[in-house]
Amino acid sequence: MSELLAQLWTPELQAAFTAVVVLLVILYVLSIVWVVRDAYLRGSYWYVWAIVSLVPLVGVIAYCLLRPPLLQIDRDEQELEIALKQRELMKFGECANCGYPVEADFVLCPNCHQRLKNLCGTCNHALDPTWTVCPYCATPVTAAGPRPRRAPQRGRTQQPQPPAAQQKRQARGAQPDRAQ
Ligand SMILES: [Zn+2]
Ligand SMILES: [Zn+2]
Repeated sequence: MSELLAQLWTPELQAAFTAVVVLLVILYVLSIVWVVRDAYLRGSYWYVWAIVSLVPLVGVIAYCLLRPPLLQIDRDEQELEIALKQRELMKFGECANCGYPVEADFVLCPNCHQRLKNLCGTCNHALDPTWTVCPYCATPVTAAGPRPRRAPQRGRTQQPQPPAAQQKRQARGAQPDRAQ
């Protein structure tokens, strides 16, 4: 038996066998390198996949089936795009009172005349009620609205003063009552 094996085990066959083994080892090492590199680029746990890929053939096949579908750089781009669209959407909103679609710089709701924004007393830009400073001219904004630093000639852009207006209305409403 061993004689037959020795006869078959010719130097040519030996060389061919060695060549195949070397090729398989190279393929094995390259597959590990590819898995690690690919897992790293996809933002996956590359060290975990490095261990998995040590299992010949099965490790690589498992990685091909389970790897994340997007490269990290593509995912970053996608997230950036989503953030950009969200910013664009922020320019639009709804009136809190009636739900009418309004744009970010609307001061009043065109439908129900609900006041949506305060006006900066200095530069007249529309300000979000939550802002404490005007981002256009750096004028500080108090909780009640912009500080009354506005020029007197800008009467038409002045905010209505609800308490005073209400008092007037009450006074007007009270007078006819008294007259009757
Ligand atoms: Zn409205
Ligand atoms: Zn301003």
